[in-house]
Amino acid sequence: MKYVIIGNSTAAVGCIEGLRQIDKTSPIAVVSVEKYHTYSRPLISYLLAGKTTERKMKYRPESFYKDNGCKLIAGKSVIKIEPDKKAITLSDGKSLGYDKLLFAAGSTPFVPPIKGLDEVTHKYTFMSLDDAKALEQAIAKDCRVLILGAGLIGLKCAEGINKKVQSVTVIDMAQHILPSILDAAGAEVVKSHIEKKGIRFVLSDSVQEFQGNSAVLAIGKTLDFDLLVIAVGVRPNIHLLKEIGAKTVRGIVTDCYGQTSLPSIYAAGDCTESVDVSTGENRVLALLPNAYIQGECAGIHMAGGNKPYDKAIPMNAIGFFGLHVLTAGSYDGEEYITKSAGVYKRIVVKDNHLVGFILIGDGARAGIYTHLIKDRIPLDTVDFELIKDKPQLIAFSQSARSKMLGGVAR
Ligand SMILES: Cc1cc2nc3c(=O)[nH]c(=O)nc-3n(C[C@H](O)[C@H](O)[C@H](O)COP(=O)(O)OP(=O)(O)OC[C@H]3O[C@@H](n4cnc5c(N)ncnc54)[C@H](O)[C@@H]3O)c2cc1C
Repeated sequence: MKYVIIGNSTAAVGCIEGLRQIDKTSPIAVVSVEKYHTYSRPLISYLLAGKTTERKMKYRPESFYKDNGCKLIAGKSVIKIEPDKKAITLSDGKSLGYDKLLFAAGSTPFVPPIKGLDEVTHKYTFMSLDDAKALEQAIAKDCRVLILGAGLIGLKCAEGINKKVQSVTVIDMAQHILPSILDAAGAEVVKSHIEKKGIRFVLSDSVQEFQGNSAVLAIGKTLDFDLLVIAVGVRPNIHLLKEIGAKTVRGIVTDCYGQTSLPSIYAAGDCTESVDVSTGENRVLALLPNAYIQGECAGIHMAGGNKPYDKAIPMNAIGFFGLHVLTAGSYDGEEYITKSAGVYKRIVVKDNHLVGFILIGDGARAGIYTHLIKDRIPLDTVDFELIKDKPQLIAFSQSARSKMLGGVAR
């Protein structure tokens, strides 16, 4: 059996580790555009802030590929997949045959078509180690940075560079920051925490046009800057599979084993869609734990094993300047909100199930909420009044506790 993996990040690592749970010997080739050993992508902002090093960012030890019998072909992209021949073509013209293929090509930053953007000389995206290195080279103490996008990537970039530049302004057309994961009240708590670090926000506004290093806003004002970071979202890399007829919507459609609609071709990670069990709908869940588990389940299935992944939910555990933000599931339902200084908690219930939560400033035992959502535990089987305020195991029945603790609960 010959395995080939396209991509060398979280989903690829999950796949390698999944394959090796079943098949200890067959060769694995890993092809990656990025020329690096696999690294933890979320750490690029910590690298910029000087809180980690390239060595410490490695997602797996130096010996990972050797230990797992993998050949890493780094610095080359895959430009064609030929399912009939079971072969892929690399950017250097070489081809590689496979018996089972995993497509784990992640996503690409979206660059909006704004008038004058092409003429902005110092503009960057923030997705990769190379992006972080380029930004590090470009910034200086007297630099005024404008970041387009107040989502997770824009804010992590702001945190990474804040101490190294004169000013950071973040602009977003949304009414509040982190619009895809927070509600307005939660976002306000995070925003005021970030503002205390000197970062400025311009919300409910957008750049209509760039005139050199000036951004002309919809409300008519202009914002001058020296360096621009574009962080308005990402698009799943689907085109290589789409052009050979794989089923795609926003992302590549797979089943719970990572199989695409094409024989012997699997996909995992940010380039795919998963069923969100908190809503029952298919969506792209561009999150690290999701990418790993999808990759692992795909690897196990590619090697003949069986581990379905059917518990995906959107889930974030992030920190901004030391403030912890945990979110999961959906916010459509009956809500219970508690607030105190620097702390915000919202839990959402629908049809006798917990479907989502936002925890800011206090995420203690959030795992219990996550378990309730992922395992679709009916709330009338637990002491929900207790759990609502403080998640704790005692709220579960003895048999449920025993199951959760591997048979040791009394
Ligand atoms: C700044 C930042 C902060 C983040 N913070 C968090 C966080 O706090 N929590 C969280 O859950 N997630 C976070 N994420 C998201 C997380 O990093 C991703 O969900 C995860 O990396 C997805 O892994 P993946 O393997 O699917 O794809 P990716 O990590 O995107 O890797 C895909 C790889 O495939 C390569 N590739 C693409 N096309 C080809 C081709 N044709 N040939 C060969 N190689 C190719 C790419 O170059 C890339 O190396 C963050 C992301 C960023 C950028």
